[in-house]
Amino acid sequence: MDILSITDLELAGKKVLVRVDYNVPINASGKITDDSRILASLPTIHYILKRGGKAILIAHLGRPKGIVEKLRLKPIVERLATLTNYRVTYIPETIGNTVQNEIGNLKNGECLVLENVRFHPGEIQNNMDFARQLAKLGDIYINDAFGTAHRAHASTEGITCFLPERAAGFLMEKELRYLSDAINYPQRNFVVLLGGAKVSDKIATTLRFIEIADALIIGGGMAYTFLASRGESIGKSLVEKSQLKTAEAVLKRAEFLKKPILLPIDHIVVPHPANESLARVVSKIPDGLMGVDIGPETRNRFSEAIGRAKTILWNGPMGIFEKPTFLKGTSIIANEVATATKRGTISIIGGGDTAAAIKILGIGGDMSHISTGGGASLELLEGQKLPGILALKKIGKTQ
Ligand code: AMP
Repeated sequence: MDILSITDLELAGKKVLVRVDYNVPINASGKITDDSRILASLPTIHYILKRGGKAILIAHLGRPKGIVEKLRLKPIVERLATLTNYRVTYIPETIGNTVQNEIGNLKNGECLVLENVRFHPGEIQNNMDFARQLAKLGDIYINDAFGTAHRAHASTEGITCFLPERAAGFLMEKELRYLSDAINYPQRNFVVLLGGAKVSDKIATTLRFIEIADALIIGGGMAYTFLASRGESIGKSLVEKSQLKTAEAVLKRAEFLKKPILLPIDHIVVPHPANESLARVVSKIPDGLMGVDIGPETRNRFSEAIGRAKTILWNGPMGIFEKPTFLKGTSIIANEVATATKRGTISIIGGGDTAAAIKILGIGGDMSHISTGGGASLELLEGQKLPGILALKKIGKTQ
């Protein structure tokens, strides 16, 4: 894509507005429970400061309507400061005179974080007046917020109308390298592994990858809609009735293309997810029971297919991984992907719950790439153009 890199721009002495994705999970006592997104933003910030630029960070947290005290960015700024040795200033405002004064006092090599950009309704409305006020704060715009790139908001899209000097940050580039380039031009054998709960969220991805990939593996709750579409008994397992026809069409298409689609051949079943102690293995799901994890035969079959892959794309856990008893299928598959990666296979994890499961297992470092964007990665994988990325194009709208 025709997008400049941060390395193409002269940053010394410049006020560099950086859209970062700091939408991190924070628990009831205000503690950040996963700082991966903050860590992922550091290379870009470090580069700007080292080059003598002034980094002005724009971020959002949650979905506030107006100012919400517990969604202020202060704890995030504190974490950012502890993760680096930069001087990081936090301003509890996003636009206006105070902000401009603070930015005026900023020295080269210093970093400042603006308040939650979504406190202003103009952000999600992509209001041009708000976008102009944001743009006025800087000379250059860098978008490094991959997780928000599927949203046309003032700080991801509108702002580029007023800042002709713009580029992608290192995280954005890395996400595109893996989720776009590595998948459009994959090293084969290319295996796509899908799971999780919502077929409707992933059906477009399935339709695309049945064409591109060499094999599709479908596990997790998603698998039951596919099994039901071919008339198999699924008891009271998760099923999306509205997707049965599309699932059937995907299976037919795979047959036509002579591409393997691997579905579970045995299951861990329980009467209800709360009945962990009643878990047992079956190959045919009886009435009244539901599949909550892939069974041992399935784990072996899926593992063999993963072992033959040179590129693996994985989105969606293999079972209700949040419950330790039903984590086993996801755990075995994740370890298989990690082993393949050590042998040189490219493994790409599509964010969201799959990333969370891999972190629980402590093997995040063994994957080639774990996306920081759940929704954004799915949209990109479906083949959609993301507004935040389109807005970075070299020949874009300028004032
Ligand atoms: P998704 O956001 O579509 O990737 O779905 C992730 C969710 O799928 C997780 O919360 C899992 O607990 C859930 N999940 C995975 N397998 C199953 C299953 N067999 N039945 C119900 N939920 C499942």
